[in-house]
Order: sequence, then structure tokens, then C-alpha cells
Amino acid sequence: MTLSGKTAIITGSNSGIGLGIARELARSGANVVLNSFTDSDDDHALAASIAQEFDVDAKYIQADMSKGDECRALISKAGGCDILVNNAGIQHVAPIDEFPVEKWDAIIAINMNSAFHTMAAALPGMRERGWGRIVNIASAHGLTASPFKAAYIAAKHGVVGMSKTVALETAQEPITCNAICPGYVLTPLVEAQIPDTMHEYNMSREDVVKNVMLTRQPSKEFATVEQLGGTTVFLCSDAAAQITGTTISVDGGWTAL
Ligand code: NAD
Repeated sequence: MTLSGKTAIITGSNSGIGLGIARELARSGANVVLNSFTDSDDDHALAASIAQEFDVDAKYIQADMSKGDECRALISKAGGCDILVNNAGIQHVAPIDEFPVEKWDAIIAINMNSAFHTMAAALPGMRERGWGRIVNIASAHGLTASPFKAAYIAAKHGVVGMSKTVALETAQEPITCNAICPGYVLTPLVEAQIPDTMHEYNMSREDVVKNVMLTRQPSKEFATVEQLGGTTVFLCSDAAAQITGTTISVDGGWTAL
């Protein structure tokens, strides 16, 4: 499967799933644009290391996905794209009546509104190129709910709905739009939740992983960033040309329960 000559923009890709997706797209020959809100030497070095390892063009463009104008600027600074992966995301856990308004606004902006802005900015270029693939990273929480994650769950359900809508708007064009719904993947976002949960339930790290996180994941294993990358590459392939407006769960059976 080759994506040689295609340019992919992956939002929120200096760590975790986004980085895994960028690496797998590059492994398949795509030129990649990495992104986050930071602008460090490490960010640019990461892009350089991907370019060298996979012999593709890779660059890093700073843009804060909480801001609509920066989301749109990311697309124009990259010169448009063939493949757009909306991956940037944050999380906050609190009961709804104690949920800080600024956390609510940030989660909705970064996890959901950013996809609206990047898709709106990228679609005209995809139409000119006559080919496009949009992959939005939602979550098992885009299909199910659990307490204390209202903003995250609202945003991820929004991403799933928006993906289906864009798929219908582009159905008669050589453009697809799908959402991937991961279960638990051991990334910095998930690592950051472990200490609080250990404290809250007075549990060991091992017990939190096994008896809190992976209780909802029948496989009892974390999905990996490489598996998320491979699923993205598949959705960008010719084999997936008629797959649009759907969700693909990579969740060890979570949403089958
Ligand atoms: P992560 O914290 O490792 O990665 C999040 C990425 O988003 C980072 O690159 C971060 O720099 C970037 N980011 C955060 N705020 C940003 C902003 N304002 N502008 C630009 N970039 C920003 O977490 P992850 O687990 O790799 O999460 C990636 C995506 O996968 C998120 O959308 C998350 O909701 C989703 N997801 C993760 C899991 C999981 O178990 N890890 C499960 C389901 C869905």
C-alpha cells in the first residue's frame, strides 16, 4: 500500500496516537506535516527524524488547535493536503456540576471545533487535487458514555456526527471522511489519568490499569499507536475508497458489549 506523493497533515502529532499515525503514514510513503501548540527544537527534530527514517518530506508547523484562525492557518501554511487527520485532543474529568467552564470550552474547541475549521479549510484544496481522505480521531467515548467526562464525550460524539455529515456532503466526490474510535491506548494522555485514579481508589498502578481502565476493554489489552496508524493508512488506501461516513472501532471489543 503506497501513499507516495500524498501530503498528510496530522493535528496534535508530537506525541501519542498522532505521532504513531504520522509515522505509519510516512512508512507508507506519505509526506507528513506534524503539529502541536508548542514550537520547540524537539518538535522540529521529530519531523527531521521521520524524514530521515522513512525518506519522505516531513515538517513541523506550530498551530494552537483551540483557535479557529490557527487551525485554518495550519492548512494554508502546509499548502493544503491530500490527507487530513484530526487528532489533537485533551481530557478533563469532573462531575458536570463541578466542571470548570474554561476546561469545557478548551475541550470542545480542541477536540471538536478544530475539526470543523481544518475540514472547512482543507476541502477546497482536496477538490482541486481530485482526491482526499479525512480521518477524524474520535473515541469509544464518541459512541458510549461514562460519568465525569461530559465535555470529552460531547466533543467526541460531535466529531462522529460531523464526520458522517462531511461524508454525505462529499459522497459523490473522490473524497472520504471517517472517524476512528480508539479504546484505551497507553499514551501520555492516559498515563496522566493514572496517578489521580490510584489516589482516588487507593489502588496500585497495576490495579488501576487492570481493574479500572481495561475493565471496559474485553481484550484486556491496550491498543497501540501503531495499530491506530495502520487503521489510518487503510482508510487512506484505494481498498477503502467506498468506506465513508462510518466509524471504525479499535477498542478490543469495548463497543461490542
Ligand atoms: P496525547 O496527549 O499523547 O496527544 C495529544 C496531542 O494533542 C499531543 O500531540 C498534544 O500536543 C496535542 N495537543 C493538545 N492540545 C493542543 C492544541 N491546543 N493544539 C494543538 N495540539 C494540541 O494523547 P493521545 O492519547 O495520543 O490522544 C490523541 C487523540 O486520541 C485525542 O483526540 C484523544 O482524545 C484520542 N483518544 C485517545 C485515547 C487513548 O486511550 N489514548 C482513546 C480514545 C481517543
